Amino acid sequence: MAEAGSFAEKVKQQADIVRVVGEYVRLKKTGKDFSGLCPFHQEKTPSFTVSPIKQIFYCFGCGKGGDVYNFVMDMEKCEFPEAVKVVAEKCGIAVPRQKERSPEERKENQQRSVLVEMHREAQTFFVKQLEGTLEGKAARAYLEDRGLDKDTIMRFGIGYAPSGGDALLRHLKNKYSEKLLGESGLISRDQSAGRLFDRFRRRVTFPISNESGKMVAFGARALGDDMPKYLNSPETPIYSKSNVLYHMDRAKEGIRRQDFAILVEGYMDAIAVARTGISNVVASCGTSLAEPQIKLLGRFTRRVIVNYDPDTAGQTATERSLALLLEQDFEVRVLALPPVGNKKADPDLFIREMGADAYLKLLKEAPPYVDYLIARARQMDLTTGEGKLRAVNFLLPYVQKIPNRILRSEWATRIAQQLRLDEPVLRAALSKAAADRRSEVKTQPELVGRAAKPVERRLIRMLAEAEGFRRELANHLQNARLYQGLETEKIFAALVIASLSGQPVQATEVGALLEDRDRRLLFEIMFEEANEPTWEEAMSCVEALQHRQAVQELADVQRSIEANPPGQEMRGLLEKKQELMRRLAAAR
Ligand SMILES: [Zn+2]
Repeated sequence: MAEAGSFAEKVKQQADIVRVVGEYVRLKKTGKDFSGLCPFHQEKTPSFTVSPIKQIFYCFGCGKGGDVYNFVMDMEKCEFPEAVKVVAEKCGIAVPRQKERSPEERKENQQRSVLVEMHREAQTFFVKQLEGTLEGKAARAYLEDRGLDKDTIMRFGIGYAPSGGDALLRHLKNKYSEKLLGESGLISRDQSAGRLFDRFRRRVTFPISNESGKMVAFGARALGDDMPKYLNSPETPIYSKSNVLYHMDRAKEGIRRQDFAILVEGYMDAIAVARTGISNVVASCGTSLAEPQIKLLGRFTRRVIVNYDPDTAGQTATERSLALLLEQDFEVRVLALPPVGNKKADPDLFIREMGADAYLKLLKEAPPYVDYLIARARQMDLTTGEGKLRAVNFLLPYVQKIPNRILRSEWATRIAQQLRLDEPVLRAALSKAAADRRSEVKTQPELVGRAAKPVERRLIRMLAEAEGFRRELANHLQNARLYQGLETEKIFAALVIASLSGQPVQATEVGALLEDRDRRLLFEIMFEEANEPTWEEAMSCVEALQHRQAVQELADVQRSIEANPPGQEMRGLLEKKQELMRRLAAAR
């Protein structure tokens, strides 16, 4: 973690956790602290708390907590060095250039930036083709026919890859080696003859950027009846399709602000939605959603409206994406657009025919995913027992993925009503499914906050914060082994070691050494309302622990006496018992 004197430590000292967290979470001042809705779990009332004084955060709902770096690491799903960089940049602190670790790494980094540069050049080339060639003009007519005006074409960088077969190759080959051209995914190699040629030919091109806005790939749509209709860049050193969501670079601010994302299938859909002014839309680009894409989305919101095509492939993709999103604890709604005339409508067609307002209205009314699924199940034949069973089997896997037991139960009732099923039978199936789920998924450790006694909580707080006497207090506790056998023993042990070191104690660093359950408890204690600690109070807490220790010892001695040991030993035990009873009487 942030070592003393390190860059990370310096940044942490200058950074204000409230400001950094405030960029992700709407915070409200409540007393000394700030609170808001937790970005790590779904909640309606704020249990996420940030302390400007301690420079830490803690969620009483899900138990996440830590310092500004822990927060950024969780939020951006990144490692510590990256989190330091992010915080430094947010606070306007210059980041020292990181040395690349090895020559290979340097070479790879170099190769990646050359490939990005090559994509930029290809982009310029494609745009020029659309503007300035005959072929390009035909492509333009096609786009206009799809309702894309000049502004939109410019805004989304739409271009044209000519039919020649080597136009882009000729444009690039003087500048880049054959090897690099092959690795870019822009140029393909004929397997038998080894000849190079353009991957995209006679296609409208859409530049695909990663979430930080670097152009890393292209999507291309055939103009005529060429197959496949959509062709994307292959996997390259700079592009992996499961890691990228189309339009994410421009959508992320809107997604964060509105706290939901609209997920569509293709880039034409994303463009159709985005150009109406709805910025928080991303496309999974044909393939159904992959887990890294969901993780990427999860950095900005946990709420998604899925609006895939209404055809069978789109339905399958919707259902597969649903399962994945639910697994990742997303709140999902599904927008299934009604047909326009007799045509099934994707977002592109719907907005073109019905207008943006109609789309927006349906978007607002998009039902929760279970309603969508029930509607799908109702399309099945429910007149026979067999059909009903099929419908239940279709629904079960989704219901099973609902983490919340109460919600699961509510859905069970609704499903039973909607499908006219016998509720007990359905519930039996559900609870079996839930049991299966429990065996798969590790249950969250429960909150244990209330378990520790007030005295222990108070002492823990003092060890963490009482600059004036924590070391002496740690000595007392350590010498008399006063925390041995307590439920909070591990927290005490970690804090005592930290206090005895003479260095300032960082609760987050102590927390990092603890198991989840203890770490949560420590954070809860750190956020409790408490008065300035005094030495007198510390000593009265110590006395309480001594008393507890004596009671316990007395019980042990009594047990040994009852075992009736031989003379010498018995005498020793009786003396010990006398002494303990005197001590306890004196304490009273
Ligand atoms: Zn939380």
